Amino acid sequence: MTKDLFGRHRAVLPDWLALYYEDPLEITHGEGRHVWDAAGNKYLDFFGGILTTMTAHALPEVTKAVTEQAGRIIHSSTLYLNRPMVELAERVAHVSGIPDARVFFTTSGTEANDTALLLATAHRRSNTILAMRNSYHGRSFSAVGITGNRGWSPTSLTPLQTLYVHGGVRTRGPYAHLDDRAFIDACVADLEDLLGHTRAPAALIAEPVQGVGGFTSPPDGLYAAFREVLHERGILWIADEVQTGWGRTGEHFWGWQAHGRSGPPDIVTFAKGIGNGMSIGGVIARAEIMNCLDANSISTFGGTQVTMAAGLANLSYLLEHDLQGNARRVGGLLIERLRGVAAQVPHVREVRGRGLMIGVELTRPGTDEAAPEAASTVLEEARAGGLLIGKGGGHSTSVLRIAPPMSLTVAEAEEGAAILDRALRSI
Ligand code: PMP
Repeated sequence: MTKDLFGRHRAVLPDWLALYYEDPLEITHGEGRHVWDAAGNKYLDFFGGILTTMTAHALPEVTKAVTEQAGRIIHSSTLYLNRPMVELAERVAHVSGIPDARVFFTTSGTEANDTALLLATAHRRSNTILAMRNSYHGRSFSAVGITGNRGWSPTSLTPLQTLYVHGGVRTRGPYAHLDDRAFIDACVADLEDLLGHTRAPAALIAEPVQGVGGFTSPPDGLYAAFREVLHERGILWIADEVQTGWGRTGEHFWGWQAHGRSGPPDIVTFAKGIGNGMSIGGVIARAEIMNCLDANSISTFGGTQVTMAAGLANLSYLLEHDLQGNARRVGGLLIERLRGVAAQVPHVREVRGRGLMIGVELTRPGTDEAAPEAASTVLEEARAGGLLIGKGGGHSTSVLRIAPPMSLTVAEAEEGAAILDRALRSI
């Protein structure tokens, strides 16, 4: 059945759509932290948490909210009053930390970042954007254009002039040998130098922890230091929280909060699993920025009642069950276990992470050279052992990405770590 589906996939979809696994997987259902394939095999899902399913597969609270709302009404999300949208906007504005916050809902992270770029360029009357090296921001014309990770950016043609800033990756690049404080100072000096010979940019956009780029983060405090430099010049700071928002990093609700108490970004974008599988993206900005557009700007499906119902049910579950705390505790344990394994596997250069956003970087033993074949081997072996993980990384696809649903239990973390132990030893 799956083989037949693979043939049909190849016949009608673009060739550049990449699939995981030599024998591609067809997932047919899920429950909690597990999914099943078409042949009935069961897998522990250590990747779906950051893609779609933030909390748990087939979470009854979200399923109930979605089916009840779908049976009631789905209509224009913006032309008439929309109670679920207002309620979710109120809650998101409240947790945002942004004063006088307004929220605009979209259907994806790409569209959220596109909207943020539209707001920033209109507000500042500049089409120059600062972005981080190794970054990923989506696949629309403008989001692809500012994405620093060339493997994920199929065109350099873009409506925006983009300049790339150092700092998103701690372990590679010209400042990697410096200690944290000196690293931040060097990145700030580099940013100031760049601004000295550039037309005033509209904004800097950055992921607090780079997702597609391989779950890398700069030392805490970098973006607070950037914020000062930017704000002295009136330049906006956009935090792309598409992967890091809603407590995934464990210590904080937002990734930017790891960068000190200097204050929130000017614009925050979010998406991915916040509807626990229903497509929600969005932008948060203070009213002065959100209201700078001088024409109507609506999204037919952004904020639709059924996705908002999912978002509300998911957020309530997440807060009531302290899944941020769970991500911190269980993620911490998982990182510890993986570091124990890594010490015995020469291909592992680094195990890094925050909460349930964990990267295992593989290199050829004793070198800095990426080892994408080793990453593919581990992915296949983990699958054979009953575990799904992801991969990524800017220089080459050699970082294993681990991001389970945030309700992961200690027993499941131990089980996944044992499977990964065997998979890593098979390199
Ligand atoms: N920003 C970041 C940080 C992302 O990781 C992604 C998706 N990988 C996007 C934006 C784009 O989101 P979407 O796929 O929902 O358009």
